[in-house]
Amino acid sequence: MKYSITTLCIGNKYTPILQHWLNRTTQKCKNAVITVFNDSNYINNIHVKNRSGLIWLLRFKQNIDYFKQNMIPLVMCDLDIIIEKDIEPLIQLPFDIIISKEIGGTNAYPTDCSNILGFGVCAGFVIFKVTALSFMTTILDNMINGKYNTCDDQVNIMKHIVNNKHSISNEIVKIYDKCYNNIIIDIDNIKICVLDFDIIVRDPIMNIGQVANHINIDNVGGSNNFIKYFYEDLEKLPLTCRCGKTHLGDNNKCIHIDLRNINKCVC
Ligand SMILES: [Zn+2]
Repeated sequence: MKYSITTLCIGNKYTPILQHWLNRTTQKCKNAVITVFNDSNYINNIHVKNRSGLIWLLRFKQNIDYFKQNMIPLVMCDLDIIIEKDIEPLIQLPFDIIISKEIGGTNAYPTDCSNILGFGVCAGFVIFKVTALSFMTTILDNMINGKYNTCDDQVNIMKHIVNNKHSISNEIVKIYDKCYNNIIIDIDNIKICVLDFDIIVRDPIMNIGQVANHINIDNVGGSNNFIKYFYEDLEKLPLTCRCGKTHLGDNNKCIHIDLRNINKCVC
């Protein structure tokens, strides 16, 4: 199945990563047409009521315009997501939108919504099918009109779910011979599949057969360190979590070092 993967590359943090990300994504995702958006002047002509999170409006608008031209499944994928396996089985899931899960469970960003839903969605990795275009347009209109006082797409998606009639169920699915528990949200006559956290993993990242690793670049000390995660053994590299990194404002004790040691013993 032919599909598009798009990413947004703006600024010094992401530019050094781009070529490594392109090489990896091209190598893993056999049927993907990959497009990079990087024109920061793109939205200067749009009048936006509340400009906070404007970069995410840029990304969303570019994706919708691109989507309308091509009308094939579209994957919006951040540059800090390292693909480990071909994502095509995710695209084949029978839902209108397939989105990764945000870190933090009931306290995931934005917390006022995850407190209600019990989970958060992460706009860093989202698959849109052609049937999702109307939903995407609603989200974009809300961003432009300042309905939720931000252009942040993740916040707008979460706020839209919480503030509109929806139902939530769970579905077990097998992907690459592993069983996962996805969350299905029925809303606006479409179905949104929130992927099990173990499919697109975040901290603590260990090798558990995941499809991709979503690594916070700041947590691993910047772009040059991040690039190592494309090439070196994940479990021999520094932990990707934020805990204990006082320079990033986190003073919690890291519990993941112990987890890693336990895992080593088991192996
Ligand atoms: Zn930790």
